[in-house]
Amino acid sequence: MAKVIDSKIPAGPVPEKWKEYKAHQRLVNPKNKLKLDIIVVGTGLAGASAAASLGEMGFNVINLCIQDSPRRAHSIAAQGGINAAKCYQNDGDSVYRLFYDTVKGGDYRAREANVYRLAEVSNNIIDQCVAQGVPFAREYGGMLANRSFGGAQVSRTFYAKGQTGQQLLLGAYSSLSCQVKAGKVKLYTRYEMEDVVIVDGRARGIIAKNLTTGELERFSANAVVIATGGYGNTYFLSTNAMGCNCTAAVQCYRKGAYFANPSYVQIHPTCIPVHGDKQSKLTLMSESLRNDGRIWVPKKIEDAKALQAGTKQGWEIPEEDRDYYLERRYPAFGNLVPRDVASRAAKERCDKGFGVNNTGLAVFLDFSESINRLGIDIIMQRYGNLFEMYEEITDVFPGDVANEINGVKYYKPMMIYPAIHYTMGGIWVDYELQTSIPGLFAIGECNFSDHGANRLGASALMQGLADGYFVLPYTIQNYLADQAVWPKVSTDLPEFAEAEKKVDAELDRLLNIKGKRSVDSIHKELGHIMWEYVGMGRTAEGLKTGLKKMHELEKEFDENLFVPGTKEGLNIELDKAIHLRDFFTMGQLVAFDALSRNESCGGHFREEYQTEEGEAKRDDENYFYVGCWEYKGKGNEPELIKEPLEYEAIKVQTRNYKN
Ligand SMILES: Cc1cc2nc3c(=O)[nH]c(=O)nc-3n(C[C@H](O)[C@H](O)[C@H](O)COP(=O)(O)OP(=O)(O)OC[C@H]3O[C@@H](n4cnc5c(N)ncnc54)[C@H](O)[C@@H]3O)c2cc1C
Repeated sequence: MAKVIDSKIPAGPVPEKWKEYKAHQRLVNPKNKLKLDIIVVGTGLAGASAAASLGEMGFNVINLCIQDSPRRAHSIAAQGGINAAKCYQNDGDSVYRLFYDTVKGGDYRAREANVYRLAEVSNNIIDQCVAQGVPFAREYGGMLANRSFGGAQVSRTFYAKGQTGQQLLLGAYSSLSCQVKAGKVKLYTRYEMEDVVIVDGRARGIIAKNLTTGELERFSANAVVIATGGYGNTYFLSTNAMGCNCTAAVQCYRKGAYFANPSYVQIHPTCIPVHGDKQSKLTLMSESLRNDGRIWVPKKIEDAKALQAGTKQGWEIPEEDRDYYLERRYPAFGNLVPRDVASRAAKERCDKGFGVNNTGLAVFLDFSESINRLGIDIIMQRYGNLFEMYEEITDVFPGDVANEINGVKYYKPMMIYPAIHYTMGGIWVDYELQTSIPGLFAIGECNFSDHGANRLGASALMQGLADGYFVLPYTIQNYLADQAVWPKVSTDLPEFAEAEKKVDAELDRLLNIKGKRSVDSIHKELGHIMWEYVGMGRTAEGLKTGLKKMHELEKEFDENLFVPGTKEGLNIELDKAIHLRDFFTMGQLVAFDALSRNESCGGHFREEYQTEEGEAKRDDENYFYVGCWEYKGKGNEPELIKEPLEYEAIKVQTRNYKN
């Protein structure tokens, strides 16, 4: 019999569902909260906001992270902003419009009810963060300022220069610190979750490694929440922080949590292009730059060839010879089309030979028009730190005048190219953010919930903080309401001992391979396979080849890996080896999902399924579902379980950004 997924979405029209849910949900008696322990793994925006809120509500929270401070979570990298439907610009925005844009942006592969709830709580997030003192940019009169992000025709993105994630995280961190001081949150920094412990079918604790001493420790609780971020680093080169990994999520998957839509991976159009084989990190240039920057390549192939050969510079090409291809192809949204659309369009131009750097894999992002119109001071106010960051990496300052043609000043353009950035897929969760393992919850980027096949810019921070501040603190109570009567689970139970023994044995296995290859050399090779066969353009044949190559490389990893040092004390290579073991599982999962989905949608582009104009061609008749995968053991194909999507408020149609 086919497995049934209970997504616990309340009945009724979409705008009412969340109210309906709140009206009927069970809440924990305040006195009982004192008896309930919750483990929150992760201190990014999702984890820190959840831990702070749960502590404030009276629960006992154990909060872990791999960095030496919660403030160093990957979330601080977020630059551009966070969306909310405040309509401060009086430009026609509304909760419904944000809901609609997000569903459309996700190519109609998100859950309608979840997205509506997200849009509704988006405004509360801004109020919460302002109350914490987050220094959002303001207009001259004091009103919070907004800018535009891809996939929207209104200005709804709140920002703090190009450091929005950092400022939001400082806000969440200050709330978290209050709870640490109040004794409601116990913080464990430099700890890594290695396994989830299941007792009688419920998540009851975790095994974590103290990264400084190397010791394994057991933690028990009434519920476990993972907020451990995305799996973008499976591709080796990405815009994610070096420490980002999917170990916690993959361990939950191995223990029975379904993994949903893994093939939905976001490739961001505006990253600094790859410049050599010795690189281990890619740098994002925020999407906010597309508010004022115009993307172009030369119209004439001979100009492109001259740029590639270095005999011509971008600013020497006059206006009439420039192809602003996004404005040409998508007049209604122009440079602010969603990321998947902009990335594919850049690849298409470069594949046709119009790339503008020595590798032929770059396009221009040019501020000449906006600097001429607004002046350099305003542009620097908006993007100053991003211009400086670009200069530090490339030695080119995009605000420098380079040429004057017919009285028009031309400034040095940035060069950009698409790169792996974000993962829409993640641990499957129901409407309550509970995974398929009772008592195990997943929030933030590590769950699959709200973005469908493509995330719109500035929506990840919105989702992470919605989950952490406003959704999970309510929904987890439905599960916890009857848990206070159960005695606390002891870490002496055999389930804990067995899980710890297995983690320990894995550490020994990796150390004892004693082969010849470093973790990084194998990871880089995995990244090449992922980008080549499971990247921006996928085909059935390529995916099969990619899977075969991944199997071979995983064998190499198992037989020829070299991890120096011992289990005791700090051993970063050993930690990286564990992460790489899990990137292999993840990479194969992405490929299986991509192979099973014979359509193109959002970030998942199967070259066999495209329109004559090269746009993604969905197949709603056969693939209008969430693809959930159940682990079936190492080397075996996982089992696909489908959660059908149901839309009642929005008409499912072909995405159109042209008019
Ligand atoms: C360069 C860049 C710019 C971005 N800009 C924007 C933007 O402007 N707007 C927007 O909306 N989104 C943006 N994003 C996306 C957004 O930043 C992320 O999706 C979001 O911050 C993820 O938050 P999170 O809390 O889910 O995870 P993370 O911030 O990744 O935090 C994960 C946490 O889990 C911990 N952890 C991980 N594994 C373990 C383990 N095994 N054991 C214990 N702890 C563990 C880590 O220590 C960390 O504390 C950007 C992303 C990048 C890469």
